[in-house]
Amino acid sequence: MRTDVAIIGAGPAGLLLAHLLAQDGIESIVVEARTKEYVAARIRAGILESASVDLLRSAGLGAGIEAEGDEHRGIYLQWPHERHHLDFVDLVGRSVWVYGQTQVQADLAAASDAAGRAVYYGASDAALHDLDSDRPYVTFTDSSGAAQRIDALAVAGCDGSFGPSRAAMPADRRESWERIYPFSWLGILADVAPSTDELIYAWHPDGFALHSMRSASVSRLYLQVPNGTDVNDWPDDQIWDALATRLGHGQNGWTLNSGPITEKSVLPMRSFVQSPMRYGRLFLAGDAAHTVPPTGAKGLNLAIADVALLAPALGALVHKNDAALAEAYSDTALRRVWRCEHFSWWMTSMLHTSGDPFDAQLQLSQLRWVTASAAGAAGLAENYAGLPIGF
Ligand SMILES: Cc1cc2nc3c(=O)[nH]c(=O)nc-3n(C[C@H](O)[C@H](O)[C@H](O)COP(=O)(O)OP(=O)(O)OC[C@H]3O[C@@H](n4cnc5c(N)ncnc54)[C@H](O)[C@@H]3O)c2cc1C
Repeated sequence: MRTDVAIIGAGPAGLLLAHLLAQDGIESIVVEARTKEYVAARIRAGILESASVDLLRSAGLGAGIEAEGDEHRGIYLQWPHERHHLDFVDLVGRSVWVYGQTQVQADLAAASDAAGRAVYYGASDAALHDLDSDRPYVTFTDSSGAAQRIDALAVAGCDGSFGPSRAAMPADRRESWERIYPFSWLGILADVAPSTDELIYAWHPDGFALHSMRSASVSRLYLQVPNGTDVNDWPDDQIWDALATRLGHGQNGWTLNSGPITEKSVLPMRSFVQSPMRYGRLFLAGDAAHTVPPTGAKGLNLAIADVALLAPALGALVHKNDAALAEAYSDTALRRVWRCEHFSWWMTSMLHTSGDPFDAQLQLSQLRWVTASAAGAAGLAENYAGLPIGF
């Protein structure tokens, strides 16, 4: 097969890139290891920054957000006996939207199907070749077992943390940084109306807790747990008890509604960046190049921001053989990546308990400052609601 851009991975980064390229008249073929159903069902992120919403709307992908998304002005930050609201709209003039990654993925898949774009689901053995030439190619085995080859002008590695693209860059041409945190999140999805109008981020001596939501009838909640936690060691009642304690059930008349848990999983917390995000005609986007702990709600938004920069860069390369934007892509994207890496680490460090009493006092001091000082609150709001794409 021959195309303009071979895309590896049909997650949000891969499908959105294919969509933006098509709007610019550029052909692509997407190769995805998993089945379409598996990709559609993955429960992951749930918050869209205003810049992500603007981009999806301008790309004609805003109908689902209008119909089912829920615009939030801010978040609550709390510690025992105190809950404070940060109003991002008042602080920095921007809001965020609760709209699940499953919904973003469904919108992208529907647009891809409607346009009849080529997506090879269930592909195995994807491998990248001749990336330092101007005729790179990708090989893979399709779901029927047939060997396939895609010749392209560029390859986009949108294959997440465990795909082959990141490692296809020569070892002596890449650098990486990693931080493994000593805790994980136990996340649940529950068929119960949210007990709050906006997300609650709770510091507690027992560990962090987060009350998020997916819709008017579905809640998403998280508990800080030790690394290596087996989800089967947490019966549903114990999860609700821990959430009630950490989120402050009964304080100032607030109650946590519980309900049937429909999904539960443990998510390890990691920060990772690989640089550069480009080698020859290979361009990395989204989790293929970086990972953030989910405390800052940045993973999905960073994938969208990368692709928003990459699509015009590939457009100039394909249409005009102009490599200026392509050459600038990695440096431009990494500026925002590192800002989000820092913010995600900062939120994580402020809210997760380590057991060290000195750390706990520092965290409480920081929380008091962020909620009491207009400057502190604006800094959090500016980063959480999202900096402009290309920042
Ligand atoms: C388990 C998990 C839970 C998360 N939870 C949250 C959360 O609660 N809140 C939050 O803000 N963020 C969360 N995130 C982060 C957020 O979901 C990601 O940042 C986002 O999915 C990035 O999109 P992406 O398209 O770059 O990567 P992905 O969504 O990972 O998509 C990459 C795609 O590449 C495919 N692929 C991999 N290898 C190959 C191969 N060899 N050949 C072909 N295709 C391949 C994968 O199957 C996948 O479909 C979570 C991430 C994970 C992994």
